[in-house]
Amino acid sequence: MAPNGLGGIIPMGQDRPMAVSLYAYTCGYITLPSAFLLTKTRGWLTVPVPAYLIVHPKGKVLFDSGMHMITQTDPVSYLGEDGAKANQIAFKPGEEIAARLQAMAIDPASVTHLVNSHLHYDHAGGNAQIPNADVLIQADEWSHALAQPDNDVAYHRTDFDTGQRVRRLTGEHDIFGDGTVTCIPTPGHTPGHQSLRVKAERGEFVLCGDACYLRQSLENLHLPGIVHDRDKALRSLQWFQQMQTANHRLMFGHDPQFWTTIPQGPNRLG
Ligand SMILES: [Zn+2]
Repeated sequence: MAPNGLGGIIPMGQDRPMAVSLYAYTCGYITLPSAFLLTKTRGWLTVPVPAYLIVHPKGKVLFDSGMHMITQTDPVSYLGEDGAKANQIAFKPGEEIAARLQAMAIDPASVTHLVNSHLHYDHAGGNAQIPNADVLIQADEWSHALAQPDNDVAYHRTDFDTGQRVRRLTGEHDIFGDGTVTCIPTPGHTPGHQSLRVKAERGEFVLCGDACYLRQSLENLHLPGIVHDRDKALRSLQWFQQMQTANHRLMFGHDPQFWTTIPQGPNRLG
């Protein structure tokens, strides 16, 4: 094992500073009605639950944390009977974000920043596994999540009210001040949704989160069936199109076909 704790993935002893690297993980799957993701479509889709790690010389950033551990054994208690029927979770021990990090010799306690795209259960459910990070969330998302009723299927206070320091953002935020890892508001799916732009050694990426579920969401401007603000959601998709034109690789939020082409940690994505 190399002393950088990354299993020797990052070459050591180079003259230039360590570059920014990006890793992707799958933290379970959800089967849900296709119309949730693509309005006016039929059938069901089984979609991955992604999370990402960015290793920067000044810290480690996690983008989203997957689902709560309890959903591995008792999703009905968490989502309710109707919620568990419409969100059929396949999530095994060892697939949670802490295990994904530990599998590449990274201590979850060493993650310095936890960026939540938004606070839905499949994006913030693993927050408790990342105990020492500052949580970076748009202020509009934090207040929206806190305003939801206790029996809401999508928002669970036990997911995100987990004691870490919460930094409520209002707009773009350049985490390290060097333009490599930047939170960018992409509202519409929820009031305070944000995406993450990453300038990694192997390319420039936009981690879309739920602001763009699938490649066809982008190509056809096909909105989801469930959306908080359609106009804002459309503007966010148009921004992703601009970023794609500017040679950024878009990481769609829940695209099963696309996801099969993405290298998984410990292999590097970027
Ligand atoms: Zn969502």
